[in-house]
Amino acid sequence: MNSIHTDVVVVGAGIAGLTTAVRLSEQGVTALVLERGEQGYMCNTRMAGGAFHVAHQDVADDSQLILRAITSRTGDSAPAELVEALASDIGEATQWLKRQGVRFIKVGHESYRKHTLAPPIATRGREYWLGRGGDVLLRTLTGALEKQGGRILHGARATRLTMRDSACVGLVAESTRGPMDIDARAVVICDGGFHSNLELLREFISPAPEKLKQRNAQTGYGDGLRMAREAGAKLVGLNRFYGHVLAQDAMHNDDLWPFPMMDFLCAAGIVVDQSAKRFANEGLGGVTIANTIAAQTDPLGATVIFDADIWNGPGREYLISANPTLVSSGGTLYSAADLAGLASQVGLAADTLLQTVAQYNAAVDGGSTGNLEPTRSTDGYRAWPIRKAPFYAVKLCAGITYTMGGIAIDADGRVLDTANRPIANLYAAGCATGGIEGGGDREQVAYIGGLSRSTVFGLRAANAIASRWSRREASASDRQSMYRTLWRICVTAPVSLPIVEYHLCKPKSNR
Ligand SMILES: Cc1cc2nc3c(=O)[nH]c(=O)nc-3n(C[C@H](O)[C@H](O)[C@H](O)COP(=O)(O)OP(=O)(O)OC[C@H]3O[C@@H](n4cnc5c(N)ncnc54)[C@H](O)[C@@H]3O)c2cc1C
Repeated sequence: MNSIHTDVVVVGAGIAGLTTAVRLSEQGVTALVLERGEQGYMCNTRMAGGAFHVAHQDVADDSQLILRAITSRTGDSAPAELVEALASDIGEATQWLKRQGVRFIKVGHESYRKHTLAPPIATRGREYWLGRGGDVLLRTLTGALEKQGGRILHGARATRLTMRDSACVGLVAESTRGPMDIDARAVVICDGGFHSNLELLREFISPAPEKLKQRNAQTGYGDGLRMAREAGAKLVGLNRFYGHVLAQDAMHNDDLWPFPMMDFLCAAGIVVDQSAKRFANEGLGGVTIANTIAAQTDPLGATVIFDADIWNGPGREYLISANPTLVSSGGTLYSAADLAGLASQVGLAADTLLQTVAQYNAAVDGGSTGNLEPTRSTDGYRAWPIRKAPFYAVKLCAGITYTMGGIAIDADGRVLDTANRPIANLYAAGCATGGIEGGGDREQVAYIGGLSRSTVFGLRAANAIASRWSRREASASDRQSMYRTLWRICVTAPVSLPIVEYHLCKPKSNR
């Protein structure tokens, strides 16, 4: 077993881990980052679309505006201290990234895209991220880390925390160089979540996780969650994820994920199950619909039904829109001159589909979609009638991007135990943590933004560790100077005894 000593060990080299490590290094604290992947490793940060926002609010907006945007999504499900921390720090956190060399650019017309990682991702191709967005951000932060004397150990997977007297004193890792025992004064878990761990997904998210599309880098195995749980950490909000609705063909066609998303078609039309009946509130948008689909007994049983107006309207929304990318990338768009013909193509009972659409259209016409079962809200997305031929259908799947729940932390990124007390020396940041996203029991899944919260809480964890450090170093140097004084006194006693008394009794600020 190789033994290593470092000030702080950070698990994972995504945006959360690198932000933490760079900020620690800036403050003179040595950070060793363990990264499970080899050089050029994939992670969610590298694949991200790059929109830096908080609850779809621009990160440069007034913090009160951002606070309101978060709470309008989370209600009181998120701890107030985390919400306030995110709202108050995101502006400065963005400036900090800029000082490291990270660049932003405005993309598209939506105000929440004013701060998109530059250069923006490509709109086509499987390596749409290469030399862009998150890829450039990771390279920039890695460069900054190395300049400050920190380093990343690739091919090293943290497997177990080392605990002594309820405090974390390091961890054990497997690496390409053999097992490692790392002794550290603090550990920060930034492993990105548990979206790729089918066992955990089955426990918390879906009865059939193998039928979800892994719309991510497949690097979130939940190691951090498991290690923290073994150390007594509290876990929160594990039943929700950030993701989008994709065409079912994405299960076997890599050109159909992570984009185009089917969200806007779903939010304008209707989503039905194999019995041709609605089962979701489409008006809550793509992230909520994806969660609802994932929770079905058969997550591959959903189909979106819409008409020509929707295909040519909401179908064209977003930078990489369903219309025309779905078809140009090899996805199946069913179409027919009437609903009965469409039903027979997709294998649905025609009479039930006709009845479902008729009921829905009547509710849209009468402004009573709120009375439908399940209800159909319209404050987020307009309900369009399904009336104009040709009629269309796309078979769907839920694409999971990252898990929203995870390890409970406080506003300093300290991991909390089941009694809400910080576990000494143990911190977490990024999508390994939970609490702020998800929305608790609220019907709508609260998406706040993975990049922004990873940066803010990475910086907060680093600042908390460094300030504890300087206090401890200060008291250690106090102690050293006291021991020196004592030694001098012992040699020169008894003349100096009054000096000892004075040194031990005077207030710290005067020393
Ligand atoms: C397609 C896509 C589009 C997205 N678009 C956006 C967007 O536009 N805006 C936005 O805000 N968010 C977006 N996100 C989400 C965003 O990418 C994440 O929220 C964010 O990058 C999470 O950062 P992280 O550091 O927590 O995790 P990650 O970036 O996933 O990094 C975690 C790292 O930990 C490593 N690791 C895991 N286990 C271990 C272990 N045991 N030991 C050592 N290392 C380990 C992994 O290999 C990985 O490198 C998107 C994500 C995807 C996939």
